[in-house]
Amino acid sequence: MNKQYTVIGLGRFGGSICKALSEAGMEVLAIDINEERVNEFSNIATHAVIADTTDENVLKSLGIRNFEHVIVAIGDNLQASILTTLLLKELGVKKITVKAQNDYHEKVLQKIGADRIIHPERDMGIRIAHQVVSSSIKDYLELSEEYSMVELVATAKMDHQTLANLDIRAKFGCNVVAIRRKEEIIVSPKADLKIEKGDILIVIGGDKDINLLEKQMLADS
Ligand code: ADP
Repeated sequence: MNKQYTVIGLGRFGGSICKALSEAGMEVLAIDINEERVNEFSNIATHAVIADTTDENVLKSLGIRNFEHVIVAIGDNLQASILTTLLLKELGVKKITVKAQNDYHEKVLQKIGADRIIHPERDMGIRIAHQVVSSSIKDYLELSEEYSMVELVATAKMDHQTLANLDIRAKFGCNVVAIRRKEEIIVSPKADLKIEKGDILIVIGGDKDINLLEKQMLADS
């Protein structure tokens, strides 16, 4: 059986999650307090329900605790977001992901035990900034405060060089975990693999090490 998800709050963020999950064939219960929003999703989600999720009895009657993962995407109404998260936690939902509006909101969500907290605007802002400042960074994902995963475009400097020649791990302390070459993905590339200009290197490493790698190996020559 497919995984079952609930998305609470069908604004831009919750709505996009709901659509993507439904398109991936998942069972999705879509909930919003606003009737128009719910109507928009009646043909997209498996079930779309008008409900106020700050009401414990409503959550119980929807059988919310049987869902594997509940995503709380209530926007500006922090009180509703916090209360909903608290009730979900009390009802024993296994995994709760919540969209935070600001750092204070995040702190409260952490305290009440949200499993994952997302700041879509902030996180996307950081990703875009990394892509904008560097011509060789195609995408960027923060793994922790110090470590990241980046997609780097191989420049002429790396063309026809093997990974062994480049010795990225020893020189920069970074790991090339995969390479994207046109449609193909080469996972855990071997040391004798020859890089081609335009390959996308998917690299994990410390932020400082990635910076150095980028400066020395990837600057356009
Ligand atoms: P976004 O920034 O993702 O567009 P919005 O603030 O537009 O966020 O969307 C949040 C959604 O959450 C709205 O559609 C709103 O009706 C819904 N919402 C707010 N409070 C509740 C609640 N108590 N129960 C269910 N849905 C709610």
